[in-house]
Amino acid sequence: MPPKHQRPYLPFGDLKTAPWYGKNILSVGQFGRSDLEYCFSVAHEMRIMVERVGTFDLLKGKILANLFYEPSTRTQASFMAAMQRLGGAVIPISEVHYSSVAKGESLPDTVRTLGCYADVIVIRHPEVGSAALAAQHAQKPVINAGDGVGEHPTQALLDTFTIREELRRLDNLNVTMLGDLKFGRTVHSLARLLARFSGIRLNYVSPEELGMPRDVMDEVSAGKIPQRVETRLDDVLPETDVLYVTRVQKERFEKAADYEKVKDAYVITAETMKAARKDMIVMHPLPRVNEISMDFDSDPRAAYFRQMEYGLYVRMALLAMVLGKA
Ligand code: ASP
Repeated sequence: MPPKHQRPYLPFGDLKTAPWYGKNILSVGQFGRSDLEYCFSVAHEMRIMVERVGTFDLLKGKILANLFYEPSTRTQASFMAAMQRLGGAVIPISEVHYSSVAKGESLPDTVRTLGCYADVIVIRHPEVGSAALAAQHAQKPVINAGDGVGEHPTQALLDTFTIREELRRLDNLNVTMLGDLKFGRTVHSLARLLARFSGIRLNYVSPEELGMPRDVMDEVSAGKIPQRVETRLDDVLPETDVLYVTRVQKERFEKAADYEKVKDAYVITAETMKAARKDMIVMHPLPRVNEISMDFDSDPRAAYFRQMEYGLYVRMALLAMVLGKA
């Protein structure tokens, strides 16, 4: 028995009747407001536990399979760290060329295999709908870590948690999404998720050819959220509470010339940010290429490095939830 201070003091325990036990996490559409509040309160407690004890045994004996068909640094490492900080173990398959995928194995067969060895499967794949397909064939819960230009629900959850921790509210926010809104899956998920809250205004600033997809805008407008489409950041920056910057997704362009034309459409610098409020924050799912200049990194409003850390706590919470321990 660990000393008392090392034991989770939360509603952590064997909660096989817990609402998320055994569930897949495929889309932000699964999260209503009360689910979000629940997930964030668990994430907040995870933060406290990591700060106090670093690692603890909530998921001791559990195994995560991390299956990445596309490059990843943060999502992959934070899911691994999350599992290890909860006392569990990880099967990392990040170089699918060295797995049977290179021999032509299908996604359904690969996840069926991993389901024999692991208790939960995290998957990133270049095709929209791939995580849902994996979930149909896996006998264990599947977590979508990015399906092509579709969704990235765990990123949107950690983004929303970041806003909550940094600004202490999720209602009455003016959020500006900047950059590649067409191919950037993180903004697709985040816009949908923020539409759950009241008093939200969304501004989409992008080159015309990289605008927010119609289906996302339609879904958001069903929640009666005002949406403004602009090509110039100056028009909305002064009233922005959260500036969410994205990378132009080079890998999604068919022609290199089309990418070259838009790649440096917006660059946030310390100078640009003089027009913004003092109490706002700047976020980015990372990696950044050129879209935020390093001269802004030391500004207290630059929340993108803190955002990565919040990701660890949210992913710890999600693993505990689907494995019936929170
Ligand atoms: N890391 C994020 C993603 O996987 C953002 C990006 O790659 O630009 O979607």
